Parts: sequence; C-alpha cells; structure tokens
Amino acid sequence: AVRVRFAPSPTGFLHLGGLRTALYNYIFAKKHQGSFILRLEDTDQTRLVPGAAENIEDMLEWAGIPPDESPRRGGPAGPYLQSQRLELYAQAAEALLKTGAAYPCFCSPQRLELLKREALRNHQTPRYDNRCRNLSPGQVAQKLAKDPKPAIRFRLEEEAPAFQDLVYGWNRHDVATVEGDPVILKSDGFPTYHLACVVDDHHMGVSHVLRGSEWLVSTSKHLLLYRALGWSPPHFAHLPLLLNKDGSKLSKRQGDIFLEHFAAAGFLPDALLDIITNCGSGFAENQMGRTLSELITQFDLTRITCHSALLDLEKLPEFNRLHLRRLVSSETQRRQLVGKLQTLVQEAFGNQLQDRDVLDQAYVERIILLRQGHICRLQDLVSPAHSYLWTRPAVDRAQLGAISEQVDVIAKRVLGLLEGPGTSLTQDVLNGELKKLSEGLEGTKHSNVMKLLRVALSGQLQGPPVAEMMVSLGPKEVRERIQKMLS
Ligand code: GLU
Repeated sequence: AVRVRFAPSPTGFLHLGGLRTALYNYIFAKKHQGSFILRLEDTDQTRLVPGAAENIEDMLEWAGIPPDESPRRGGPAGPYLQSQRLELYAQAAEALLKTGAAYPCFCSPQRLELLKREALRNHQTPRYDNRCRNLSPGQVAQKLAKDPKPAIRFRLEEEAPAFQDLVYGWNRHDVATVEGDPVILKSDGFPTYHLACVVDDHHMGVSHVLRGSEWLVSTSKHLLLYRALGWSPPHFAHLPLLLNKDGSKLSKRQGDIFLEHFAAAGFLPDALLDIITNCGSGFAENQMGRTLSELITQFDLTRITCHSALLDLEKLPEFNRLHLRRLVSSETQRRQLVGKLQTLVQEAFGNQLQDRDVLDQAYVERIILLRQGHICRLQDLVSPAHSYLWTRPAVDRAQLGAISEQVDVIAKRVLGLLEGPGTSLTQDVLNGELKKLSEGLEGTKHSNVMKLLRVALSGQLQGPPVAEMMVSLGPKEVRERIQKMLS
C-alpha cells in the first residue's frame, strides 16, 4: 500500500514551500488510495517555535489536505512526534553499535569547534576527522568510564549505493569523501535528522519519500543506514525547488509566504493549491482553475521534471477570482459564501449599519452574484469602494450642484422611473430609461447625469455601472438615496 509522509520540523509556521511538499504527498496518496502521514520532526529542541506544530496541522486542514495519521489524529504507526519515539532511535543506534556500523564519539564540543575553525581558515568545508572511529575496545571502555553518554556516529562506507530517484534519475553521492562520519544519536539521547528519518520511515511503513530536492544528497547517507540496519528502503522522489518568479529563494519574501497570511487575507485554499501546482510539473497540461479532486485525477508522478517551479504570486488574485466564481456557481457553496460575507460586513460596518437590513440573506446573495466577476476575494466586497452597498453615503449638495444645475429635476425624473414598474427594472431596461431621461433634458449631458447619480448613490466618482448599482441596492433603497438629492 502507498504510504507517504510530510515531515516538517516545527521550527516555523507552515509556508508555501511546505504546503507544496505536503500537497504532492497528499495527491500521490489519494491517487493510489494510500495514506498521508504528518510526522513532526522535533528532535532539535533548541529550534522549536511555540505554536508551530499546531499551526502546521491547522493549516493543512484549512488547505483541505488533512493528514490521515498525525500527532493530533493519532494512527496505527504513532506516536507521530519524534520526541516521543526516542526509544526506537536508541534501539537502532544500539543495533548499529553491535555490528560496528556505529561507534561512540568522545570528542569534546571544543575540539569539534577547533576542527571547524581550522577548516574554515583553510577555506575548506568543515569535516569531522573520524578520530574516534578506530578506538580499541580498551580505549572505549576507559573513555566510557569518564564519559558514560557519548554521542554515536555512523561509519560512512567509502562507496555509497546508487539509487534511482523517481524524479532525478540515477544518483550517487559519495558522502564519505565529503563529510566525516555523522552523529546519529546525540549525548542527550536525541537522534539527529538522518537516523530519525530512516527509523521512522521504516517503522511507519513509508513506501515513497516525496520531499524537497535539498535532501537528494542526504539520500545516499540514508541508504547506507538502511543497508546497515538490514532494512529495505522506500522509493524516493525529490521535488524541485519552489522559487520566486525571479528565481530567488521563496523564504526571502518573508512574512507573506505563511499560510496564515493567505487565510487571513481571504484567499481560498483551492486557489493556493492551484497556483502551486500550476507553476510546477506533474501534469500533462498547465491549466488554471483545477480543483483538488481534478489535481488528484490528473497527477502523474512521472511528469515531475527537475526544473525549479517559479511562483508568480501576483497571479494569485486571478486564481482566486476563478475559484471564487466556481464556488458561487454551486448553490450550497454560495450559501456558505453568503454567511462569510455577512460576517465580514458585520465586522467592517457593524456600528454603521442603519435600519436597512443589509445583512438580509437575499440581499447579500444578490451582491455576490452581481459582483463576482469584478472581485478577486470576498473581502473586496467590504473595501471602501464597496462601502455604499452596506452604508448610506453622506450627500454633499455642493458636489452635486457642481456636476449639474438640474439636480432636482433629474432626481424627480429618476424617482418617476422607479415608481410602479421600477421594482422590476433590469440593468438593460434601466440603461435605456436613463438614456431617454438624459435626452429629454436641456443643459445636462448624459455622462453628467450618470456622474450625479453615481455620487448620490455611492458617494464616489468611480465604481460599477450606475444601472448595476441601482439593481444591487434595490428600488426602495435607491428611492431613499435619490430623495436625499432634493433640496
Ligand atoms: N524535517 C525535514 C524538513 O524539515 C524533513 C525532510 C524529509 O522529508 O526527509 O524538511
């Protein structure tokens, strides 16, 4: 069975890069009726960020890609927090010590620091010199007496096995020539990433490891660990990097790549999933507007290429507009949007809402239907430009007078228009009637008639077509606002 995992360290909140890794894992799992596991790699206790673990799981749920097994949900392979699995890492380290594949290291932090500094002075990559590798059993016993909790290092074999990455093809990194033997278990009993990752992927029955390409080089080390432990490794598929449009690192954008930010700004999870897959590979075609279930049916792992994915966040509003329209077209989804907009209006204008029942279900729904093509986010409907929908503008008589000297005449004629049949006037009919109205006037151009009405209805010089405003506000409210034009 397919079992995949997303294994972030809770050293920060979930951002777009993490979402992308999680998403490809989720899609791959669902495509193959498999399981998607969330495992938190919290072994570096010094780098933990409070709230990050909760945020990661919350945001996966918000994005609509919840894990099947996780710290919060539990599951058959738990616990899903590495800090609660120390026993398993100790057992594995013990097994490696027994076969001589690992050895205790008594080097002091000071000595390691000196080694590092010396290398840097000589413009070399710091590398552990494997000093403790060949201690005799007698020396080990002697040192253990003084230092009973040494770190454990893994003896890197000279030749790493080659492996076929499902994205990058054949790979082999002779890590031993570049790196010294790595610490796998620290003296405080916590494992380092490499051991923890291998032990967990094995015990959790992970079938495919889909992770960022920054881990491609580590895979050789992991394979050496699998071999030394006598376990068969999973398949590996490394995902190319997600970068900004200009090729710079995503993290350089700072604050605004966190999912929380997008959720608070009113972006739809589907729009984020869509833009993230759209700039990457894994699909026969790059089309906008795919839903998660379409992503699952259309995904093909063999189509992932090694090219970095360049994310153009400026296009996100456009993706959001598309997904918002899709939601509006479904009756049940639309009802939810109405509820959300009611809340937004309450938050933005709560204390200014007048007797008029602007929170009325039918009114709010009509606004969404009329404006959907012109907004990117539901939030846009409570922006200052749309405030006239929820509150009455203050009428500035001097401003009206500056547009036309015939304010009263025009107002009366519009009121006449709205009498009787006014209740059922459509935008088209209104446009025709307003045109006729202007033609029957001496002294005010049609464009000024419209400007006058726009100001009277919205208090603004720009906005949607006047006829649309009239249809949105409804005849009763339009009458009220026009009446106010009369001196
Ligand atoms: N904890 C690693 C990270 O934060 C996981 C790497 C992996 O998936 O093996 O990216």
